[in-house]
Amino acid sequence: MISTRLITDEYINRLTEANDYAGAAKLLLKRQLKDWQQLTDGYNILNRVKTKTINFDSFRMELQFNPGRMKSTSAKVDNEEIINRECFLCEENLPQEQKGILLLDDYFILCNPFPIFPEHFTLAATEHHLQEITTSFNDLILISKILSKYYTVIYNGPKCGASAPDHLHFQAGTKQFMPVENDFQSIKNEFGEVIFEDEALTLCAVDDGLRKFIGIEAKDEKIVLDTFNRFFEIYGYLQKSNEEPMINIVCNFNNEYGWRVIIFVRDKHRPSNYYKNDGLILSPAAVDLGGVCITPVERDFGRINKSLLTEIFKEVSLYKEGFGYIKAALKKKFSALSF
Ligand SMILES: [Zn+2]
Repeated sequence: MISTRLITDEYINRLTEANDYAGAAKLLLKRQLKDWQQLTDGYNILNRVKTKTINFDSFRMELQFNPGRMKSTSAKVDNEEIINRECFLCEENLPQEQKGILLLDDYFILCNPFPIFPEHFTLAATEHHLQEITTSFNDLILISKILSKYYTVIYNGPKCGASAPDHLHFQAGTKQFMPVENDFQSIKNEFGEVIFEDEALTLCAVDDGLRKFIGIEAKDEKIVLDTFNRFFEIYGYLQKSNEEPMINIVCNFNNEYGWRVIIFVRDKHRPSNYYKNDGLILSPAAVDLGGVCITPVERDFGRINKSLLTEIFKEVSLYKEGFGYIKAALKKKFSALSF
């Protein structure tokens, strides 16, 4: 079945043969915009979105009023809802016009018809299996390296932002589009605590008043993976749940510095305000935490200000004592172990 889903294009083939998957994805988008109306409509909506900037001391947050995102932002992702719907990431249910590029043999690069980024892709597993980070983190870092020429790769946990929690997928979007990518060092300097640092690894914990995250910076793939696993063991223990603890990840790769993985830790999927009558339709996931907050409702775009945004992000982020526990446990682990 895979062969009919793959795009047949001589120029794209040449790029993938040369391992230029970022270039191939860019060209896929160009091709699909010509022959897939739903995608063109999605980008036309994106071209008309309104944005505004909310400045904080060491960073900025953008607000994007994007009516094209209503379905994703308000997606029902409870178990019953998932069981009773056809999986929209399974190959047989993709729109007929949608074509992809095979990546690492296990993923399709697909154009996202509801874009937030100027160039926005879904990286969907070719097989239907659970959205789960422990078994896919290695793929996430490999893919972020492969696509690093133009794109940043993100992961949303099954309970905090993934609109298909039953089908493994990442997203890739235009590099440096999310403010956190540019603001990372200043946020880290102002609000961060270095947990461990040597010539191969910098591990930090940041609470900037809105978001709480763990940052991993390293050049060696194995060190990134080991560090993530050590963190995740602690986080899993803290959350004491059979389900995956809530995380959103923004992953970059740079030839000079290697990987930078930002792991947002969470308490809630949606803020209490979301469930109120007249509540705000804002459901923070990796892109929002990365500093591009999506609201599909114009009235919300008008009423969201600095204090409301702070309140919402604080509420969905991990509670203070929990974050303190993670920091202390990481310090202990990294002082006792070495690579
Ligand atoms: Zn599926």
